[in-house]
Amino acid sequence: MRRKISIVIPIYNEVLNIPIMVHSIEAVFSKLDYDYNIIYVDDGSKDDTIEKIKNYANQNKNIRFISFSRNFGHQNALKAGIDLSDGDAVISMDGDMQHPPTLIPQLIKKWEEGNDIVYTIRLDTDNTSFVKKTTSNLFYQILNKLSSVELEKGTADFRLLDKKVVNVFREIKESDLFWRGLVKWMGFNQISIQYTAGDRVHGKSKYTYKKMKDLALKGITSFSTKPLSIAIYIGLVSSLASILFFLYAFISYHMGHVISGWTSIIIAIAFFGGLQLMVLGIVGLYLGKLFMQSKNRPQYIIKETNIS
Ligand code: UDP
Ligand code: MG
Repeated sequence: MRRKISIVIPIYNEVLNIPIMVHSIEAVFSKLDYDYNIIYVDDGSKDDTIEKIKNYANQNKNIRFISFSRNFGHQNALKAGIDLSDGDAVISMDGDMQHPPTLIPQLIKKWEEGNDIVYTIRLDTDNTSFVKKTTSNLFYQILNKLSSVELEKGTADFRLLDKKVVNVFREIKESDLFWRGLVKWMGFNQISIQYTAGDRVHGKSKYTYKKMKDLALKGITSFSTKPLSIAIYIGLVSSLASILFFLYAFISYHMGHVISGWTSIIIAIAFFGGLQLMVLGIVGLYLGKLFMQSKNRPQYIIKETNIS
C-alpha cells in the first residue's frame, strides 16, 4: 500500500500565493510514489484566500481546508492542521514559497531512513534583511542561554513529523504554543537538513515586529523560568551595594554632613523603584501565562472545514 503524506500550510492573506504553491506541490508528488493531501489552514484571512482554496478543493480531491473563526496566529494554525491530518507523515510549511516544495523529497527520504522528525535549518542569504537576521540571531542566543532546549538558529516551522510524533502533538494542550521548542523538547530520532530560503513570491511578511516580539517572549517564557530568578541576583547585588552606602552614611554622620545626600536618595529611590517594577513585570508575565492556561480555552476555533 502506498504511504500518505499530509502537507499542512497555515496561511493568512496569501490568496496570490495559493496557485503557485499548489502547482509546485503537485509537481513534486507527480514524481514520487506517495499519496498526499494538502491541508490549508486559513488563519482568519481578510482577503479572498478561503474562496480561492475552496475553488481548488472542488477540482482537486487532495486539497483540504480548515477555516478559523478569526486570526489565532501561525502556531495555533499549525496545531489545527496537524490535529486533523491523516498522513503517515506530516510536513508543515509556509504558504509563501519561502519553504521550497522541492525539498519535500529529501525530507521524505530522511524519514524513510528511520528518522521520526526531520527539521530544517535555513541558511542566511544576502536577501535576508539585516534587521531580521540580527533580531533572529539575538533571539536564539538569549533563548539558548536561558532555557534547557537547545535551538539552532534558522530553525523554522518547516519540518516532517512521523505519525507517532503527530499523536504526541495532538496531546499538547498548552495555550502558548512555540513549536520549535516543543519539537526539540519532544525527543525521538531527529535529524536536520539545510536549505536556502526562497523569496516570498507575493505579498509581504505577515510577521510584524509585534508578532515577532510576541513569539520571542513566548519562546523564552515557555521553556525557561530563569527570568523569575533574576530578582534574587539583582537583590543580592543591591544589598551588597547597600553595605557600601551604609558605610558612607555612617562616615558622613560622624563628619557632620547629615543633611546632605538628597541627590543620592532620589537616585536610589528611582533606581530601586524601576528595578522592582521590572521584576514585578517578569513575575506578572508568568502569572499571565498561568491565568490564560487555567481557563483551558481551545487553541483555535474552526468555522468551516471539508475534513470529515
Ligand atoms: N501566518 C498565519 N497567521 C499569522 C501570520 C502568518 O497563518 O497570523 C502564515 C503566513 O501566511 C505564512 C506563514 O504563516 O504562510 C509564515 O508567515 P510569513 O511568511 O509572513 O513569516 P516570515 O516568513 O516573514 O517569517
Ligand atoms: Mg515567509
